[in-house]
Amino acid sequence: MAFIVQKFGGSSVADAERIRRVAGIIADTYIEGNDVVAVLSAQGDTTDDLIAKAHELNPNPSKREMDMLISTGEQISIALMAMALEKMGLPVVSLTGWQIGLSTNTQYGNARINRVGHERIMTELGHRRIVIVAGFQGKNKYDDITTLGRGGSDTTAVAIAAALHADLCQIYTDVEGIYTCDPRKVPGAKKLDEITYDEMLELASMGAQVLHNRSVEMAKRYGVNLEVLSSFVRKPGTKVKEVCKVEQRSISGVAKDTNVSRIALINVKDEPGVAFKVFRMLSKEKIVVDIILQSIGREKVKDISFTVAQTDRPRAEELLMSMKDAIGFESISVSDNVAKVSIVGAGMMSQYGVAATMFEALYDAKVNINMISTSEIKISVLVDEDEADRAVAAIHKKFFE
Ligand code: ADP
Ligand code: ASP
Ligand code: MG
Repeated sequence: MAFIVQKFGGSSVADAERIRRVAGIIADTYIEGNDVVAVLSAQGDTTDDLIAKAHELNPNPSKREMDMLISTGEQISIALMAMALEKMGLPVVSLTGWQIGLSTNTQYGNARINRVGHERIMTELGHRRIVIVAGFQGKNKYDDITTLGRGGSDTTAVAIAAALHADLCQIYTDVEGIYTCDPRKVPGAKKLDEITYDEMLELASMGAQVLHNRSVEMAKRYGVNLEVLSSFVRKPGTKVKEVCKVEQRSISGVAKDTNVSRIALINVKDEPGVAFKVFRMLSKEKIVVDIILQSIGREKVKDISFTVAQTDRPRAEELLMSMKDAIGFESISVSDNVAKVSIVGAGMMSQYGVAATMFEALYDAKVNINMISTSEIKISVLVDEDEADRAVAAIHKKFFE
């Protein structure tokens, strides 16, 4: 007998038939003798629909009220799932985030988990009940409902698995596991049997939405046994773990992120402290800067370019303009029509020529590279947004097909 946390995403619980299918998976796991906690997302596009409803009334609602609204989708799913399991004659209870004592900080819309209570879930499991938990939501110190950021139900599941020392955390979704590339966009994408936490963290952070990046971060920190698999076909998925047999492959995957903007400061004074002023100001405002490029100085000026999330771009631009004289630059140029394409792989550390292969693929596809950045297990390039899909396909083909 094991203690298993299972998470089912929005498309897996989109309608009555799918809820029944998922109830079947949960029931089988329970009947085998396991303790089961199932974490659910909102059905289908419910969260997007709720956001659209809000914007019909107020284009700029407070984040508190937004969380009050969008947390409701998950509550619908858990009640329906519990009803489906009741119908099968199984003992079950559905619980919201606050009922399981999932407490977060006060950052509405993107809250961080502080603690998951043990009491309620353990008591219910002690009574041999199946526990169905609403993902994506928690409660802050003001007793307000908070949400964990889009895709955050994965993080709820991993947090419960970590806090309650579950034996396994299974993330059920609408594809059969983690692939070398988004299988819906690149037909040649190959399913991986396993991947390291570090690789998956980079892939998730670079745009592969199959797992919420904070869920991977947490799984790594607490050594959670994580698996991604399909809720539609019953076969083994992909295991996410500390070490894998990566020798055979130089890279594990290709990802694309279109939530990127490039900001260039033109004719910045070529003197010490300028980069410090720019990036300290952005970090104080919690704006994450990714790729940074600085040109060689000429006639006492230089250019500094960097990327930020597109959602942060307006605020970053406004802040920089307000400090134009204090920082000392002539003008600012921004572009939202860029995308970041990345390759990730632990095998990169021990192999040469990986970057050259990636650049060759881009050259063959006639895609121009605007910026490059590398880490131990990742290489990212910034390209024009309308060339990004072609870039991904060309790189994927070069490495995997
Ligand atoms: P859920 O609703 O189950 O949380 P998501 O839509 O958040 O599902 O994540 C699953 C989707 O992630 C897949 O349908 C797929 O299109 C996308 N995806 C992107 N990159 C990858 C990848 N490398 N491997 C698998 N799926 C990926
Ligand atoms: N329902 C939320 C979203 O759509 C959380 C999740 O699905 O993980 O972002
Ligand atoms: Mg998801």
